[in-house]
Amino acid sequence: MKVWLDGQLVDEGDACLSVFDHGVLYGDGVFEGIRAYGRKVFQCQAHIDRLFDSAKEIRLAIPYTKQELIEVTYETLAANDITDGYVRLVVTRGAGTLGLSPFKCPTPAVYIIADQIALYPPEMYEKGMAVIIAKTLRTSASMLKPSIKSLNYLNNILAKIEAIDAGVAEAIMLNAKGNVSECTGDNIFIVKDSGLLTPPAEAGILLGITRAVVLKLAGRLGLPVAEQNIRTEDLYEADECFLTGTAAEVISVTKIDGRTVGGGQPGPITQKLLESFRKFIRSDEA
Ligand code: PMP
Repeated sequence: MKVWLDGQLVDEGDACLSVFDHGVLYGDGVFEGIRAYGRKVFQCQAHIDRLFDSAKEIRLAIPYTKQELIEVTYETLAANDITDGYVRLVVTRGAGTLGLSPFKCPTPAVYIIADQIALYPPEMYEKGMAVIIAKTLRTSASMLKPSIKSLNYLNNILAKIEAIDAGVAEAIMLNAKGNVSECTGDNIFIVKDSGLLTPPAEAGILLGITRAVVLKLAGRLGLPVAEQNIRTEDLYEADECFLTGTAAEVISVTKIDGRTVGGGQPGPITQKLLESFRKFIRSDEA
């Protein structure tokens, strides 16, 4: 595998970071997870824009232009002969001293991995997945904004461990007000009385690019959509539930905390959106 690192394509084994990189020492950096479908980078501009927004929030100056990063993303896909795959674009704070100050790290490290990803097994997409509600709360925006896609994922990882301990693949995270925010690596939607509900930005979420596509597709399908706070009881009473994310794409949730959601199978609206999403990713608009 070829990895693009700081300006060049190198063999995977030669793609090395300093042990003094603050990305490693402190999770100080930002990243994007991006899909490629049919050699096209899905929602490319949206991902690059979010990367630069995240970097700006943490006062990290990316040493490339947006256009340069788009070009090298395509180069990395081509170097690995990937038609349909997954790209991980990472910008770390770079090597510094053994203190927290990011201002002692003169040069950010930038690297791109192009590979495959299968987050959940194929049968989960057919039958739906079980999730739990984690005890670990999502960090409040006043602590670390969930809208920043930073390398600091321990909050999510601790909730993911709860899910794995409970024998399920994902966990729903609540915010400090007890409202639903998102899952450890996906956004969440519920269907109630044929309308779609998803937590708003203020609930403390990563503004998912898949979420935005699904909201657009739902609008086109004429489905009523509301970005509003969701409580635990709304989850338990939902007719349908599904998750969205770059790696997950669109996946039905059929069990929450051991309780069956709706009819216990992927519901009709989830299926309609999934079908519409699958068409969209192969379209000129992708
Ligand atoms: N929330 C979190 C915490 C995530 O890490 C992700 C991405 N894996 C998402 C939501 C979904 O965002 P996107 O659709 O942009 O991949």
